[in-house]
Amino acid sequence: MSKKVRVRFAPSPTGPLHMGGVRTALYNYLYAKKHGGDFLLRIEDTDENRFVPGAMEYIIESLKWCGIEPNEGEGYGGDKGPYIQSVRKDMYRPYAEKLIESGAAYMAFDTSDELELMREKAKQMGMPNWQYNAVTRSSMKNSLSLSKEEVDKRLAAGEPYTVRMKMPRNKDIKFEDVIRGWITVNTNNLDDKVLFKETGMPTYHLANIVDDHLMEITHVIRGEEWLPSAPLHVMLYEAFGWERPEFAHLPLILRPDGNGKLSKRDGDRLGFPVFPIDWLNPDGEKYSGYREGGYFPEAFINMLALLGWNPGGHQEIFSLDELVKEFSLERVGKSGSRFDPEKTRWFNQQYLRAKSNEELAKMLQKTLAEKAIQKDDAYVAKVCSLMKERATFVNDIYNEGSFLFEEITSYDQIIIEKKWNDETTKIMGELIEEFKALSDFSASAIESKFTAYLELNKYGFGKVGPGFRLLVTGKGMGPSMFEICSLLGKEIVLNRMETGLKKVLELKGSK
Ligand code: GLU
Repeated sequence: MSKKVRVRFAPSPTGPLHMGGVRTALYNYLYAKKHGGDFLLRIEDTDENRFVPGAMEYIIESLKWCGIEPNEGEGYGGDKGPYIQSVRKDMYRPYAEKLIESGAAYMAFDTSDELELMREKAKQMGMPNWQYNAVTRSSMKNSLSLSKEEVDKRLAAGEPYTVRMKMPRNKDIKFEDVIRGWITVNTNNLDDKVLFKETGMPTYHLANIVDDHLMEITHVIRGEEWLPSAPLHVMLYEAFGWERPEFAHLPLILRPDGNGKLSKRDGDRLGFPVFPIDWLNPDGEKYSGYREGGYFPEAFINMLALLGWNPGGHQEIFSLDELVKEFSLERVGKSGSRFDPEKTRWFNQQYLRAKSNEELAKMLQKTLAEKAIQKDDAYVAKVCSLMKERATFVNDIYNEGSFLFEEITSYDQIIIEKKWNDETTKIMGELIEEFKALSDFSASAIESKFTAYLELNKYGFGKVGPGFRLLVTGKGMGPSMFEICSLLGKEIVLNRMETGLKKVLELKGSK
């Protein structure tokens, strides 16, 4: 029997979760669900200096909003916890010691000042990227370069030390990545990474491997930026003698112009969100999110799923269930995927159109309540039905159709200037009289009356339509006037036409 699939999303709470991070979580989620496996959330907070308060809560809330919640992990329970690395702190030391004992790692006593001095010296000698590695370690203060007596003396004196990986010289590390195929890296290009800090805290590398092992992770699906760390991780699994999970390194998400990685700062600079939900940085800076921008989580997730994964057909709209069914790591591309904000809006529009009027009405009622507008659900649902083809976001229904909720406060100046003349004034007067005679104010009755009036006078639509729309809605464009009028009701329509006529003439006169 093959092992149960267990994947994890392992963010570091160093700030808000970028949409690239959400995509990593999504692919992990899809992979787990597809294979009937587990999706874990583990918080990797071993870097105390980069910890940002509120970031963990933000991550949890974001995943919840996206509908891709873990079934195990911080906040979700499970028997392999705790799932926050700082809480697991005391578990890691024995593993570091094991590596020292087996010779895979060593103790380094160099202070940060000494390391800094070394880097400075190297820089002056024309080597800007000094590394602690197989070549330089012999001239540093560590358990490989110092005598056993010296090391024991330092330990007895309680001198702090870090544990570093002992990178062998000139060895090819080979491993297979599900997305990228075989990868070979020579250890001459790798340094002796710190695995355990003098503070008693492991670094990301050690904690990550120990936890993936203890939590029985079968597949590590993560961003491409972790690919350079993978050879070290492969070596750590070997050093511990543990079976290694499969690796799958996801491609980058690129800026809309294809120029480089989409960064945290790009969103607000280029006018689209790069975060799932709003984030207020401790320094007071605000980053905007998809949720507050009016996006549906399903649309956001659908867009993200296709940013790197190619379903292979022409279908673009996928529900989460469909994504689970279709997803495979083999169809995730190697090269970066360009983020397209326009397409993202398109996805939202598609999801909006697919929603029932009643569902949209419920959402729109929230906006209306903020504006102290009271309309019953049936009325709001009719407005949604009329306006939804023109909307990308729920709020567009209000913004584009405010005349269905509130009195008109302005009239389209261009229509007044270009389409209104003395004849329009006369025609509107007559149209008011025609409508007054209507007892049935349904859309079809209004339409028949309107068409009969046009035919009788041999008027084309363009002579009457724009003025009519202007008086009732204040605008130059919109959905069917007959539907609008029927929704508003006879009293409001006649009232608007009469007062509108006066106002438009005033506006025209004052020009
Ligand atoms: N803690 C790492 C991050 O912040 C996780 C990398 C991994 O998944 O191994 O992305």
